[in-house]
Amino acid sequence: MELYRMSALNISKLLNKREISSEEVVNYFWRRLQKLEPGLKSFITTCRQEALQVARQVDELRFRGEQLHPFAGIPVAVKDNISTQGTLTTCGSKILENYYPPYDATVVQKLRESMLPIMGKTNMDEFGMGSSTENSAFYPTRNPWNTERVPGGSSGGSAAAVASRQLPLALGTDTGGSVRQPAAFCGVYGLRPTYGSVSRYGLIAFASSLDQVGPITGTAEDGAILYQLITGYDNKDATSLMPPENMKLADFPESKIKELKIGIICEHSGDGFDEEVVKRVKEMAFFWENHGATVEEVSLPFSDYALAAYYLINSAEASSNLGRYDGIRYGYSNQNVHDMRDLYFTNREEGFGPEVKRRVVLGTYALSSGYYDDYYLKALKTRTLILEDMQKKLQKYDLLMGPTTPTPPFQLGEKIEDPLEMYYSDICTITDPLVGNAVISVPGGFTADGMPIGLQLSAAPFQEYFLLKLARFWEQRKGFLTYCLDEGEGVMK
Ligand code: GLN
Repeated sequence: MELYRMSALNISKLLNKREISSEEVVNYFWRRLQKLEPGLKSFITTCRQEALQVARQVDELRFRGEQLHPFAGIPVAVKDNISTQGTLTTCGSKILENYYPPYDATVVQKLRESMLPIMGKTNMDEFGMGSSTENSAFYPTRNPWNTERVPGGSSGGSAAAVASRQLPLALGTDTGGSVRQPAAFCGVYGLRPTYGSVSRYGLIAFASSLDQVGPITGTAEDGAILYQLITGYDNKDATSLMPPENMKLADFPESKIKELKIGIICEHSGDGFDEEVVKRVKEMAFFWENHGATVEEVSLPFSDYALAAYYLINSAEASSNLGRYDGIRYGYSNQNVHDMRDLYFTNREEGFGPEVKRRVVLGTYALSSGYYDDYYLKALKTRTLILEDMQKKLQKYDLLMGPTTPTPPFQLGEKIEDPLEMYYSDICTITDPLVGNAVISVPGGFTADGMPIGLQLSAAPFQEYFLLKLARFWEQRKGFLTYCLDEGEGVMK
């Protein structure tokens, strides 16, 4: 079988049996990347030589019989807001177009320790702000299933690279949906881990109380292995959490599915929700019912306010986090200025794109002394109400489910002129980050015109292995691995 049709786990079995070398694996995916990348633009930087070097080391160690991580020698892509020492890290922004970090993010260090060759840095919406990857300062990424459509965002590059199997594994980041929404649009698995369970050290900050790194993979099992690799307490991240003992690797036996109580979020259907998407949610509800679970409708009464609270909070935090970009110490710097004031103005004016500026202005306004109580504080109070309600719901239900996005992937250019339209496409993904839940997007089928639809399962903090187990159960019965694109399909249209 062609490698691109295999999960990372199955490739690792070939590697272990020495039926193939890691150098061959990297070369294989490099050739595929070269063929598909011009039509998709999922990468900002590729690192073939470094990847090959790691692959050769892996081959040597394997030859000597050393015990290696199952994914040692299997190429991975890293979103371009995650710091890689000595490798360009732009965050999708002109203001960091020449930034080579002097250190690795903790998650990157973990990838290196387990010897996964990093094949490149993926395209993204500038600073993670966006839902289509059209806000990249460089170029938009295209959806592998139809290149006229967006791949979602902001981790659109990572999702498109995995969906087109330019490689089997990628890391994305999720502030308000940026792992799950592109995973949904590209027909792959995207996990947003519990806030604090994966280190943010070396992740370029957008909204610090929401940002999380998560795996984007072709199968749920690959997602579980990659998550296990990147999770863990890190004393370099002040918000890092120790997982509760009993939840570490908590295994959920399939026989218990019939004991599950699942709530379908009723606010995530109806007006503004595409019929084909709603149909897939119902199908999944039947699926769990057929396996004995109890499924009923649940209302999240604060849903109407969640989007507003999310956009106020992320903009406020971003306005503070992005204050550091001034063109003085690093990053884009136009030296053709007459004084300090001009230096700040010119560099920020020329370095940031329109969406980043919009949020910095909104966030600064919301934090200003005259408006703090009316906007920022209100948003925080709303966040607390949402959290309290969610905790009650998760006492009653083991799991909440619904669509990942209200619509299938939209056209390039369709929403970029209308920020509110774009924000609305995050309506299903912003609640879980506000409350710190674990949440996964799984492929849920296709529209009549062949575009992927994603479905979302969310659970209490530190329940990611439970979610991944359910995702795998779903995947095994639905055969989603066959979703891999065939040569000549999608991208070649
Ligand atoms: N689309 C959302 C936003 O623009 C989410 C982004 C993210 O998760 N990084 O804020």
